[in-house]
Amino acid sequence: MARKYKEDDVKVGKKILLGFIALAVILVIGRFSDVDFTQETDSDALEDTNNTVATVNSSQTTNGNLVIDFIDVGQGDSILIRQGDATMLIDGGTSECKDSLLSFLQSENIDKFDYIIGTHAHEDHIGSLDDVVNTYDFDTILFPKSSTTTKTFENLVLAVKAKNKQFTAPEVGKVYELGDAVFQILAPNADSYASLNNYSIVIKLAYGDNTFLFTGDAESISESEMMDKGMDLSADVLKIGHHGSTTSTSKKFLEQVNPKYTVISCGRNNTYNHPTKTTMDKLKEANIPVYRTDEEGTIECVSDGTTITFNVEPGTYSYLGG
Ligand SMILES: [Zn+2]
Repeated sequence: MARKYKEDDVKVGKKILLGFIALAVILVIGRFSDVDFTQETDSDALEDTNNTVATVNSSQTTNGNLVIDFIDVGQGDSILIRQGDATMLIDGGTSECKDSLLSFLQSENIDKFDYIIGTHAHEDHIGSLDDVVNTYDFDTILFPKSSTTTKTFENLVLAVKAKNKQFTAPEVGKVYELGDAVFQILAPNADSYASLNNYSIVIKLAYGDNTFLFTGDAESISESEMMDKGMDLSADVLKIGHHGSTTSTSKKFLEQVNPKYTVISCGRNNTYNHPTKTTMDKLKEANIPVYRTDEEGTIECVSDGTTITFNVEPGTYSYLGG
């Protein structure tokens, strides 16, 4: 009998443990189920062409310049884009870059953002985005629907809530105006991925005849999905995916984008060994100039709608990893 009691005790103990685990799961899910996304169609959206294969290749009017700053945030991404009075920030680097990122935005006299895009939930993209949200007013914040429960993500959620705002989920095909420039959402194209990187919001931006592709950390899976949908991925400037890692910039994707210039955002001597030989060799073989924040700090790229200029010379094809 004594033994029976013990077995029952173990069973009861297991049930209590399972109960606690279930409760913990419910609490976590409950906590993040109130991550609100807007349901309405955005007033800024020009059209809602879900699953479209047509991509923006030009904007009808140009007035002044489109200015893109690939901000040196160490190992991470943060890109400031301005046209006329319209302003957009793609990603906000790591939490360590907070002071340098905020002082850069201040030095550029930013007072609000029309759009903030958090490409995906990794810390090197949204680490200081909560500080940006706390500091600046904004109209729209685009963020992918992915489940993650990191402290970094939670901080961003709380910051957005404190501003009485909601995330806008990316809808493939949707077109937004940024001054006289336009941009379109090209990815993500699936509801769930094994890697958070593939949730990355990918946009194609057009100003006059110039086009730019910003890929976050999208990997070859997402690249293939965009190609499979027959999207016109051609762009003058490609922000290389995932800091030049082997996971991204497949040969076919690079051929389809066929960029005149590429940009890699990564930290000097970073421990992730980005960029890799695989990626740099592809760029070198195709003779495509690459601008790198690890070699040149913040890189400014300017388009007048016809011509694209950079404030620095192209970087080297040197690499850290295989
Ligand atoms: Zn990253």
